[in-house]
Amino acid sequence: MQKNLFNYYQKYLPINENTPFVSIGEGFTPLVKSENLSDKYNCNIFFKLEGSNPSGSFKDRGMFLTVAKTLEKKKKKIICASTGNTSASAAAYGARYNLETVVIIPKGKIALGKLIQAMAYGAKIISINGNFDESLLAVKEISDSLDFEIVNSINPYRLEGQKTAAFEIIEQLGFSPDFQFIPVGNAGNISSYWKGYKQFYDSKICNELPVLYGVQADGAAPLVDNKIIKNPDTIASAIRIGNPASADLAKDSINESSGEFMKVSDENILDAQKIIARKEGIFCEPASAASVAGLIKLISKGYDFSNKNIVCILTGNGLKDPENAQQYLQSNIIKTSSDPDEIKEAILKY
Ligand SMILES: *Cc1c(COP(=O)(O)O)cnc(C)c1O
Repeated sequence: MQKNLFNYYQKYLPINENTPFVSIGEGFTPLVKSENLSDKYNCNIFFKLEGSNPSGSFKDRGMFLTVAKTLEKKKKKIICASTGNTSASAAAYGARYNLETVVIIPKGKIALGKLIQAMAYGAKIISINGNFDESLLAVKEISDSLDFEIVNSINPYRLEGQKTAAFEIIEQLGFSPDFQFIPVGNAGNISSYWKGYKQFYDSKICNELPVLYGVQADGAAPLVDNKIIKNPDTIASAIRIGNPASADLAKDSINESSGEFMKVSDENILDAQKIIARKEGIFCEPASAASVAGLIKLISKGYDFSNKNIVCILTGNGLKDPENAQQYLQSNIIKTSSDPDEIKEAILKY
């Protein structure tokens, strides 16, 4: 039988005998050791492949529990604002558990793969003339009167579910990593990880806690610049957020772990996305690549990570954002007839 988060981590989660079982097979994602980057930088780099979740991002870890708690309350409707992955995840769980699902998305700003998912799962999709922060404001405004449960990360069960990723990392390594790099958008996930690490530390399952680096994009770095960004701008749409809902929790996590918020350019992000694909065989979405871009930036600034264990959270699958990748990856496709000689010649001169 497939292990599931609901049963496996039940004693660490707010699950009781009235909580209905929910799962689409989320969690238990691979922690893959880097082959080439570890050698290059003389440290042990691990990638947590959150794109292996059922809807292709870590959002499923939070959504399984949020939907279970929604069902426990006998509510039948869920709503979210989304840069894409929350809507894909909500739509998937909503479909499976017969909930009316509404997603509010910023017009023209959703990666194609994520939008297609919400459509495929059959959610009601409302595209507003505004950005993510405005979408979330709207959701907060209308949810009560229409009796919707909000399934964004302001719902505390999202963070509770997502902390299971930290549990898994400790179990997969056998200890907690020295450092963790993670992209930060609405700042829920970094707070979840910290919660998870602390909970296992308090339960004496690990003896140490990692240092957290929260990575934002230059044009959407409210936690680095210490101010709300009115018009956040980055190619990494999943972290294109100017006013993070969990800012305070995330700041506490960074402070308690003696870590830092940092920012990287879109160029750094796309370079990292390409390196991870071409040197490690892992295609992640741009927001996810920000974690590795952050690590590379600190190394280039002279930080010493030699022989350390470093986990980079690859939050979502690269296939979610094909348009963006297609734009910058040169397509050097040579066309030939079906003649084997001509094909051979094309390969040799490639
Ligand atoms: C949601 C998301 C993020 C940002 O997570 P927050 O909890 O909002 O900080 C990063 N990467 C991907 C792929 C996401 O879907």
